[in-house]
Amino acid sequence: MTKQGLVVVPAEDVVVAAAGGRHLSFPPPRTAGDSWRKLAAQQIDLGAAVMGSWLDSMKASSPRHRLMAPAVAAAVVGGDAEHDEWMEKHPSALDRFEAVAAAAKGKRIIVFLDYDGTLSPIVEDPDRAVMTDEMRDAVRGVAARFPTAIVSGRCRDKVFSFVRLAELYYAGSHGMDIQGPITKVTAEAEAEEESVLCQPAREFLPMIGEAYAALVAKVGDIPGAKVENNKFCLSVHFRCVDEKRWGAVAEQVREVLRDYPRLRLTQGRKVLEIRPTIKWDKGQALEFLLGALGFSGEDGAGQDGGAFPIYIGDDRTDEDAFRVLRARAQGAGILVSRFPKDTCASFSLRDPAEVKEFLRKLVTCSST
Ligand SMILES: [Mg+2]
Repeated sequence: MTKQGLVVVPAEDVVVAAAGGRHLSFPPPRTAGDSWRKLAAQQIDLGAAVMGSWLDSMKASSPRHRLMAPAVAAAVVGGDAEHDEWMEKHPSALDRFEAVAAAAKGKRIIVFLDYDGTLSPIVEDPDRAVMTDEMRDAVRGVAARFPTAIVSGRCRDKVFSFVRLAELYYAGSHGMDIQGPITKVTAEAEAEEESVLCQPAREFLPMIGEAYAALVAKVGDIPGAKVENNKFCLSVHFRCVDEKRWGAVAEQVREVLRDYPRLRLTQGRKVLEIRPTIKWDKGQALEFLLGALGFSGEDGAGQDGGAFPIYIGDDRTDEDAFRVLRARAQGAGILVSRFPKDTCASFSLRDPAEVKEFLRKLVTCSST
């Protein structure tokens, strides 16, 4: 069950997402030798093919489309065989809690939590994605025992306004804006400045501000579309847009990106995300925070008996962090999903309610 501290299901059952197969980021991940000019050429030259891929990708992220797959499978074979098979490969972290706790024994547990879809449900209006007081209590309890970080695509200030726990680490903008716990008076600007640990995309701030204004101008007329400025990245939410207009959303975003070849597009759950073309993602943020906590190095060596990072997330962008855990052969990656998905996570939880239960069990386990 364990290999150098990594909790995995048996090797023959492990499903690792194909790096290029169904990873739906556009343009493709930057490779050695690619310049931003080359990436720009790719975006423009691909034209209609890119548009078709975007639309397929946007539909694939739609809960309504995902809901249809199990229903169809059940109708054909009399049961949800696909789901059962997937659960064997990615068992419930609650059902396997004892195995996780055993693997973590003697190691320093460090908890990483995505926000949307993990601590809060996905809702129509992203500004209303609040977490419950019960969830906040669960996170507070975990943070009192283990270093705990929120890793989100959102602006750090926005996610802090939802979570409101000063004792946490916050990695906003997909990890491009990392802040440590605020131990002084939180309202003091100086204290906040001192607690900023890492901002690798600071030079992109003016460009992102410009692109935000351009996106608001281009997408603002499409009913239901919402552009969110996450400081070091931008989000175009289409969860409230009529599906017939998704193509228009993608086209307008592509128009804006023509002028900003140093920005790239990725996709989350019913959201298009525009980020700097630097190699920095949630996986990099995870590595940075582990290093900041004294657990750098691939073997996980560091203080105490080594680190046992637990990363919980629901989105494609969380796969970068799951991959880091697999590469380090450390800890446990947990995908939040009711439906089968390609993932590098070892375990699954169905929804934020199960995440809360898992966090509570972590607290109980550490107290006994
Ligand atoms: Mg999420």
